[in-house]
Amino acid sequence: MLRLIAILVLAYVAYRVVRKWVLGRSATRQVNRPPGPHGRIDDVMHKDPQCGAYFARRDGVPLSFQGRELLFCSPECRDRFLSANQPPES
Ligand SMILES: [Zn+2]
Repeated sequence: MLRLIAILVLAYVAYRVVRKWVLGRSATRQVNRPPGPHGRIDDVMHKDPQCGAYFARRDGVPLSFQGRELLFCSPECRDRFLSANQPPES
């Protein structure tokens, strides 16, 4: 009888340890996971319409131009695109 109780206690302790280990692992996995489906979309590579370089979409410099949303690799490229595509005001 005492042997049975000892086995039950050991099984319970083992269950607690395994449960804590599994929960700890899944919690760590949640921390490492990107913050939702939008995190993946932000990693899409985008081509600069001015210089042709590829860059991560989240690093892009946005510009609304003639009703279109453009993304540039840098503010310099955005300004170059604007000066090349906008007619000089006179
Ligand atoms: Zn560029």
